[in-house]
Amino acid sequence: MADKLVLEIVTPQRTVLSEEVDIVVAPGDLGEFGVLVHHIPFLAKLKIGELRYRQGNNLTRVAVMGGYAEVLPDKVTVLAPAAEKATEIDVMRAKAAKERAERRLKEKKENIDFARAEAALQRAIVRLKLAEIQ
Ligand code: ATP
Repeated sequence: MADKLVLEIVTPQRTVLSEEVDIVVAPGDLGEFGVLVHHIPFLAKLKIGELRYRQGNNLTRVAVMGGYAEVLPDKVTVLAPAAEKATEIDVMRAKAAKERAERRLKEKKENIDFARAEAALQRAIVRLKLAEIQ
């Protein structure tokens, strides 16, 4: 039996990564969860947050913008609207997105979609956090 787990993260635009890993920790909607090889199968909804995985002594962080994780004994597949490895994050873009979202949330206009602005703010905060600790 294989003792490694394959982690695949896919968005509508691209395959963000497909790697053999030792452990995955993902931002579940109900809380963070860890997966090792031979885990029982389950499906989880993800929230906007940090997914991390270890390969030997290497830890890699990925910003995941929600979506779903399918956990199988030898594979974790994440389908997300967007995801970037911490090293791929454009800090200036995330800062601009954060300022835009904060401005929208401060405007007390009736036609503001608060849920959308709140989600944009969350995405930017997670990107900035991961870019800073990479
Ligand atoms: P923006 O307003 O800057 O587009 P957003 O949060 O609305 O930010 P998303 O809809 O989450 O962006 O992502 C759209 C695409 O752009 C995805 O492919 C995502 O990976 C990429 N992307 C968004 N922001 C960044 C960033 N700061 N660095 C790298 N890639 C990014």
